[in-house]
Amino acid sequence: MLIGIDLGTTNSAVAIWQNGEARLVPNALGELLTPSAVGIAKDGQVWIGTPALDRMAGHPQDTATSFKRLMGTQRTARLAARDYKPEDVSAIVLEALVRDVEALTGEKPTEAVITVPAYFNDRQRKATRRAGELAGLSVSRLINEPTAAALAFGLQDKGDREPFLVFDLGGGTFDVSVVEMFDGIVEVRASAGDNRLGGDDFDDALAALVKPRLDPEGMLAQIPDERRQALLKRAAERCRRALSTAGEAEFVLTIGETRLAATVTEAEFEAAAEPLVRRLREPVVRALRDCAIDAAELSEIVLVGGATRMPVVRKAITRLFGRFPNSSVHPDHAVALGASIQAGLVGRDAALDEIRITDVCPFTLGVEVAEQDRYGGLQRGLFSPIIERNTPVPVSRVNSYSTMGDGQKQIEFAIYQGEAREVSGNVKLGQIAVPVPPRPAGEVSAEVRFSYDSSGLLEVDVHVPLSGESHNLVIVDEEDRPDRKDIEKRRAALARLKHHPREEAGNVALMARAERAYEDHIGELRQMIGHWITEYAGALDTQDPRRIADARDFLATRLDEVESASPL
Ligand code: ADP
Ligand code: MG
Repeated sequence: MLIGIDLGTTNSAVAIWQNGEARLVPNALGELLTPSAVGIAKDGQVWIGTPALDRMAGHPQDTATSFKRLMGTQRTARLAARDYKPEDVSAIVLEALVRDVEALTGEKPTEAVITVPAYFNDRQRKATRRAGELAGLSVSRLINEPTAAALAFGLQDKGDREPFLVFDLGGGTFDVSVVEMFDGIVEVRASAGDNRLGGDDFDDALAALVKPRLDPEGMLAQIPDERRQALLKRAAERCRRALSTAGEAEFVLTIGETRLAATVTEAEFEAAAEPLVRRLREPVVRALRDCAIDAAELSEIVLVGGATRMPVVRKAITRLFGRFPNSSVHPDHAVALGASIQAGLVGRDAALDEIRITDVCPFTLGVEVAEQDRYGGLQRGLFSPIIERNTPVPVSRVNSYSTMGDGQKQIEFAIYQGEAREVSGNVKLGQIAVPVPPRPAGEVSAEVRFSYDSSGLLEVDVHVPLSGESHNLVIVDEEDRPDRKDIEKRRAALARLKHHPREEAGNVALMARAERAYEDHIGELRQMIGHWITEYAGALDTQDPRRIADARDFLATRLDEVESASPL
């Protein structure tokens, strides 16, 4: 069975393509979105999703979130005194999604289409593919998130309403794509984005706004850093979501028995969010400029990503484009649904016969060069683009370069991806050296051909006309070739983690929530919560389903009361 996965910075989702239809799969708690959060205890016990988020404030050292931001880097997440690569933690989330599909269909999926931000570079894409492999999936395709959203949008509304713009603002990344549909062909004309902008930043802005009011006595300063951050973030997100449907909301934070609260109005939040909102403009302009399409030519603005639910963002979009955005695709579900449609395409489902996708190369590819300046000096480390960003793929382009030294015996080409003028600001993909006949400077040239295909393989051919010699380099995994043995070893290590049985998911989630409530309070209330937890644990020990159900209802009701109660 083929599945489609939206592996998000904040939330992940999985959808299946079945009987000619895309369908989202609920997790064990009945949620259609699984927060991309993983907690691992010293004994190897694992929490995934909402329970992991609940456990986070009390166990910051055991919990990882936003690890997608580390994908493709050497940085690791430290959990229960062990280091995990970002793709290892991602694999834990992917495995959970696979189990959810298995629970729904009775069949274990082995193949998946996984989405990545259009802005992900080569390394980040490879790390994502590896995460899939670590979760036991063969990744038949990686597709860009906006492409997936476009598929979900296009299928639902098959008319040729071209071109349209997909505006995806998630928890940590922002993606803009200009897409055209024509005779069932979905073509991404250009994409641009900011992989450091999302709902998280609006949380930070809101927290910074209320902090002085909320805490004039500086109580927060006495709390350890990580815990304070977690408390503020949770309170900010809750308040920010409330502001999506009301003109003002309370920012509430409980420390022990002290309740800190401040009211925030929509206008105040909007003012605080202004610098972030301004950053939404630039990628839109860049994407439109790259494909030479005018905002007025766009038929629709399609909103994707949870953070587009903020009125301040919708207003900015309306101002920017001079019209209201389209919200016919559910912003939270579009990407996973589109991925499963792509999975149906890979599986050549008959219902999708007439739909094709073409894609663009999302970043510029080129080589390092040196240039002589007019004063006779040499400017080194410059980037010379060969394939420019947003060129439709597959694509093949050639550029010519000549020697700079007298009697030079070889030319070395360092291959880079990125947009910076100096290569130091770009990502190095590889290197190729070719021997050349020694001649005076500038008399020997080499033609460098770049060919880039839709699966992200870059082939470099260097031809030296003077000697007739040709050299070829295929850049697959220059930095980190997927080593079968290494993958097997890491899979085995992940398999040793102890997952809670699926039937227990609700119990585990409730326990995590209760323990969070215990940590959030002190004094009598805390004692009381401790007592409830003991009772609940006792009921679990009896293994009697009826007793467990009763105890669960009781505890959930008490926690609802505690969480909504105001001690003031
Ligand atoms: P990602 O693609 O990064 O995984 P999502 O598309 O799931 O992220 O969006 C997550 C972000 O959306 C979070 O910052 C969350 O706070 C925000 N969000 C979700 N629902 C709402 C809402 N109703 N109002 C405001 N923000 C929301
Ligand atoms: Mg997303």
